[in-house]
Amino acid sequence: MEHELRAEYEEPGRPDAEVRVWHVVREHGTTAMCGRELSPTAATRPADAWGTGEVRMCHSCGALFLREVP
Ligand SMILES: [Zn+2]
Repeated sequence: MEHELRAEYEEPGRPDAEVRVWHVVREHGTTAMCGRELSPTAATRPADAWGTGEVRMCHSCGALFLREVP
């Protein structure tokens, strides 16, 4: 199963909004593993960014993601 990260914004709908947190979605999906619905226009990035410390991650998604990807 391929995964990617998708952004949740502080102010949804604003193109210059700050990213609040990154969730994990199944590739090209818009529903985060924690159940949150995300915008199909939200930014995505490869799941490789997970764990680098560069991005703020959703803790619920993190726990679920680690269970699927050893
Ligand atoms: Zn999440």
